[in-house]
Amino acid sequence: MASMTKAQKPAEKVRREARLAEAIAIVSTGKCPQCGRPLRRNLALTGWWQCSQYGAEGFRADASEPSCSFQTFTA
Ligand SMILES: [Zn+2]
Repeated sequence: MASMTKAQKPAEKVRREARLAEAIAIVSTGKCPQCGRPLRRNLALTGWWQCSQYGAEGFRADASEPSCSFQTFTA
């Protein structure tokens, strides 16, 4: 058994998995980690989540409040 070597993951894959795990943890709270407002799914792309205050006036949930640039991907 001493000759067995552990399969090594490429660093890029490790980083991707860590980032995905972090994104999933954030989305599971349902809240933006930057401003605390609810997150919403953007249906344009699978797994795309944005702060409900993301984007220009008319797109964000409350135009009277500042916009928030937070977005993340769980896929
Ligand atoms: Zn936000």
